[in-house]
Amino acid sequence: MTAKTFHARRLPDHGAQSGWMALLPPRTTRPALDDTVTTDVVIIGAGFAGLAAAVRLADLDPKLSVVVIDADIVGNGASGRNSGFLIDLPHDIASGNFGVVAAAKNRDEILVARTAIQHYARLAQENAWDQDIFDPSGKYAFAMTEAGTAHLKAYSKQLKSMGEANQLLGAAETEELTGTRSFKSGLFTPGAVMVQPAAMVRAIADSFRDPVSLFERTPALAIETASSGCVVKTPKGTINAGRVILATNGHAESFGFGKGKLLHVFTYASLTEPFAPSLLGGSRKWGATPAAPMGTTIRRINGPDGDRLLIRSRYTYNPNIEAGVGTMKRAGTRHDRKFADRFPDHRHLKMQYRWGGAMALTWNSVPLFGQLEDRIFAACACNGIGGTKSTSAGIAAAELLIGHHSRLGDIFRAFDKPQPLPLSPLIGLGARLNLAYREWQAGRE
Ligand SMILES: Cc1cc2nc3c(=O)[nH]c(=O)nc-3n(C[C@H](O)[C@H](O)[C@H](O)COP(=O)(O)OP(=O)(O)OC[C@H]3O[C@@H](n4cnc5c(N)ncnc54)[C@H](O)[C@@H]3O)c2cc1C
Repeated sequence: MTAKTFHARRLPDHGAQSGWMALLPPRTTRPALDDTVTTDVVIIGAGFAGLAAAVRLADLDPKLSVVVIDADIVGNGASGRNSGFLIDLPHDIASGNFGVVAAAKNRDEILVARTAIQHYARLAQENAWDQDIFDPSGKYAFAMTEAGTAHLKAYSKQLKSMGEANQLLGAAETEELTGTRSFKSGLFTPGAVMVQPAAMVRAIADSFRDPVSLFERTPALAIETASSGCVVKTPKGTINAGRVILATNGHAESFGFGKGKLLHVFTYASLTEPFAPSLLGGSRKWGATPAAPMGTTIRRINGPDGDRLLIRSRYTYNPNIEAGVGTMKRAGTRHDRKFADRFPDHRHLKMQYRWGGAMALTWNSVPLFGQLEDRIFAACACNGIGGTKSTSAGIAAAELLIGHHSRLGDIFRAFDKPQPLPLSPLIGLGARLNLAYREWQAGRE
């Protein structure tokens, strides 16, 4: 085996703190690595994928030593700054998708999603997480337009044909639930789980005990592979490991993996200041995804200081995996408009926190998964549905490394490889136009 070195050309900068992190009490972070350590497996990246890989390795071989490192503190990455929907069903079942192959594909997608949800349900039970962290409440999808309503009805029918429970809601029912008249209809699916994402990833990280250890603020600067093992270099330390799991999402490309195959897209969220529960009728806790895939997500949460509304909307192409001040500002303006459209009587509510986060997509919507090099495995680029898919990718990568067979592993191994993106600079223009067109298509949704 020839020795190889993969340098990180770029390290993550996650940008403004998320509202989720801001709402949590202070935590003692795990120290940065400042020494030389030796371990069986090193996992780079402590998001959904990396944390799930560590948990699964510990399940499969409790004696295996595992070191997890993250460039930042746990919770600052995309896994701690998303909208917190763990969704068990495919976002969209294309019309005409009733063939045997399509039905099997839908079933596989559901298995991938539900494996992740079961993984967290088990951790929730073992660690006695309360419903502010992990709430198996189901989720809604809301339509703002007639076209959105037609879409929800068609989706409901397709779900029923697959034997999946769901319930359509009319305008009066959505008003009763949300306290606003803006939504024309809704669809409830009971299998989704709503999480406080930063609290959940922190809770998992804090549950690690010897022989699983975690070092925060410890970026991997280089990975060297040789027949004797791997060496991961960090600013003040060195990790000698048998094998590496790369769980760095789009930053796999920063090491040269998936080069020219990952599309770096950001999406954004804003969280209101707290308000008195009596200010807005309806239920005090619910979450709804849009009726159109590129539309706007809304969530109501509550805490000791009152209730808040979260809005997630807008997609941008950010090839450097960073969002600048101007992009953040434009996303904020969009949020205010979408918020006022949904809650016209509460448009005076101020957004207390605004943030963005990175997602890695691929042209053919498959993850960057599997053994990339001798001793290097990947669970990256899960196309924006990381709550479930990145988690399952991490589980499947751990199983692949150990040689454990499962149906989940079969599904991940059967994914095609990511296809090359069209040539730059066309890709930049193409991606921006495509996102703009699809956002336009989503319209008021
Ligand atoms: C605003 C927003 C809302 C979203 N809402 C949802 C939702 O409701 N449901 C859903 O399913 N998905 C949602 N997503 C997508 C989801 O958050 C991501 O797909 C998921 O978090 C990806 O998980 P991951 O573990 O693969 O990657 P990440 O969470 O990105 O973790 C990768 C980690 O690797 C670390 N890293 C990178 N490079 C290095 C290095 N060189 N050395 C060490 N560490 C490194 C990073 O710091 C990071 O912590 C949303 C995303 C955003 C931004």
